[in-house]
Amino acid sequence: MRQTRTTFAGLSTPEKVLWYVLIAVSVAVFAWGVWTLVAKYRSGRGRSRPRVAAGGTPTGRARSVARRTARTARVVLTHSSINRRAGISGIAHAGVFYGFVVLALGSGILALQDDVARPLFGFDFWHGTFYLVYSLFLDVFGAALTLGLLALGLKRGIVAPRRLDYRRADRAPGGYERRRYVIGDWVFVGSLIFLAVTGFVLEGVRIAETDRGFDAWGPLGWLLGQGFRGIGLDGSGAQTVHHALWWVHGVVALAFVAAIPFTKALHMLTGPASVATGDEVAGTQLPMLPRDATAEQVGYGAIADFAPRELLQLDACTKCGKCHDACPATAGGLPLSPRDLVLDLREVAEGAMGIRSQLHVPPLHDPGASILGDPIRSETLWSCMSCMACVEICPVGIEHVPLINQMRRRLVEQGDMDSQLQATFETIHTTGNSFGENRRKRARWTKGLPFPVKDIRKESAEYLWFLGDYASFDPRNQRITQTIAQLLHEAGVDFGVLYDAERNAGCDVRRAGEEGLFGSLAKTNVATISGCDFDRIFTWDPHSFHTLKNEYPELGGAWTVLHHTELLLELFERDVLVAERQLDAVVTYHDPCTLGRYNGVFEPPREVLRRIGVELREMPRNRDNSFCCGAGGGRIWMKDQRADGVRRPSEQRIDEAVALGDVEYFTVACPKDVTMYEDAIRSSGHERAIELRELSELVAEAVGLRSERPGVGSVGDRTDTRS
Ligand code: SF4
Ligand code: SF4
Repeated sequence: MRQTRTTFAGLSTPEKVLWYVLIAVSVAVFAWGVWTLVAKYRSGRGRSRPRVAAGGTPTGRARSVARRTARTARVVLTHSSINRRAGISGIAHAGVFYGFVVLALGSGILALQDDVARPLFGFDFWHGTFYLVYSLFLDVFGAALTLGLLALGLKRGIVAPRRLDYRRADRAPGGYERRRYVIGDWVFVGSLIFLAVTGFVLEGVRIAETDRGFDAWGPLGWLLGQGFRGIGLDGSGAQTVHHALWWVHGVVALAFVAAIPFTKALHMLTGPASVATGDEVAGTQLPMLPRDATAEQVGYGAIADFAPRELLQLDACTKCGKCHDACPATAGGLPLSPRDLVLDLREVAEGAMGIRSQLHVPPLHDPGASILGDPIRSETLWSCMSCMACVEICPVGIEHVPLINQMRRRLVEQGDMDSQLQATFETIHTTGNSFGENRRKRARWTKGLPFPVKDIRKESAEYLWFLGDYASFDPRNQRITQTIAQLLHEAGVDFGVLYDAERNAGCDVRRAGEEGLFGSLAKTNVATISGCDFDRIFTWDPHSFHTLKNEYPELGGAWTVLHHTELLLELFERDVLVAERQLDAVVTYHDPCTLGRYNGVFEPPREVLRRIGVELREMPRNRDNSFCCGAGGGRIWMKDQRADGVRRPSEQRIDEAVALGDVEYFTVACPKDVTMYEDAIRSSGHERAIELRELSELVAEAVGLRSERPGVGSVGDRTDTRS
């Protein structure tokens, strides 16, 4: 007996014609849907381009396209972005993905055989070993699809985690409508389950009708077939059921294909496209303003201001809620959820430039009208800490942070911002620092040291030490700055500082949307630093570190920049810094967002801690999953706007550390973290449970510097504009 089967078995010629007509209709609707989407994306007039490492020349561009294609294929095929901290649902999604792909390929192979190879070339390959292996593959992957869908359905319906419940952080219950999303999710999962299950039943009924030995190569269908025969469904009865079910399954499958551009299934197209068109430095290197930008060109105020690839990203959102779960603003009761922000923007984009405009129906939104205030509230945009947790976890590569930043730029341009933030901008503009201190006080911390610190503008040195505002002016941080200076002196490091010529680096100014002020600060710093003679820069402020290292090169300042944790490790490795004793302490370490997630500096601080003998106990959220202290993105300069009864992100972080058990020190490596977490230890009521240490303070203790620490009173009082 020939090992194959007859396609269209039992179908009359008119039925076959009808089937091909339906295929044509399905494909036409799908194509029209894709065309309307492309038209919508092309309506975006923004110019945000994805930035890649190798561009410029045609060869460079070709290389970057090849690299981008390879990266997209890797991300999609390995599911690496979906599997991040996803647990069982990552495996379930892989089952759905590979099951769907293999079944779709199976249908494609069948169409190739029936509609091309056999009628045009008389070539028949769908039999024998090929057919048997084909049957086995489709059964195994069909099972993976079904199990994956059932697991995802159970997760959504029974486990129902917070991230999937659509409750909004910025609206009172009843003040918004999410039923459409819930129905859409279930229709998507339900229709796929229906197709998977009816596919197996169809196979079982076919086998029950014919019952040939080699049908066991489709083991699940064969088992079902035996079951059907067991209940008396065989022969002509099975044939009748098969005929009816074939049509039901086929019509639903074609409807599913036609609906892809209009339903949740769209992410199957836009997800990979979003990854492919992603900006490799999104959020970490913000785009410059266009040269000679007018007020209307500063930031985004209307949906039409978005770039085509950004509009495409909005459509890629699967509503998985991972960003919602990771966001410290959401967790801290602030009126922001990155998921809801994306969904609001997507609704506006669709209502303004989507299908309605293709059908010449009046749009729901004017593409050129302002979206700031309604539906995108300014307090939502000002709640962001630019921590990048959302961008890092989003499985489809949505870049929330640059979008928020663009809208903040427009708010700043319109003067729509927190009064405290506005005052801080003015202070920085006038004094060059956020503390409103006289520039000459920037290096007062040097006066308490038992040795002189070089003025690098006048003398060359191996290292230029860029301080940053908190390390220069805040009294608690000044003591740490002095400790670091002593450690470097002890290790014989040749360093100098800029004294009163240093200005705020502009990292948070930029993230808060004041691009003009950032530009002027950066240009001043670049000009000053360029006039100095040094080999490398270091800083203990991760915000300054990030901007000097990654954002100043675009303004002409390209240097090697180290964080002090990297420098301290180097000094240990060169044996110029030696731990006299191993500290007998249990510590945990908090990864600052701008050092860790932004720059991947995770191991140097941990290695330094190992070298001084402390026992490092990791918090559950560590390294790229670190949880922001709440200060980033300019939030440290704004009023606290959290909901009553919700603990601040910094307090939640201290709770997390205390929950580890007997941890003595909460170790940080950022001046703002020192301020934020010392406050949080007090306000969270954990003063007796844990103490804060900056990493260099522990190093100083290990190398025997503690007794030499300068006094607190040696530097000026703090005049912080924050409160
Ligand atoms: S950057 Fe951080 S604070 Fe801002 S939306 Fe993303 S996760 Fe939330
Ligand atoms: S933006 Fe990304 S992470 Fe957030 S819900 Fe959408 S797909 Fe998930």
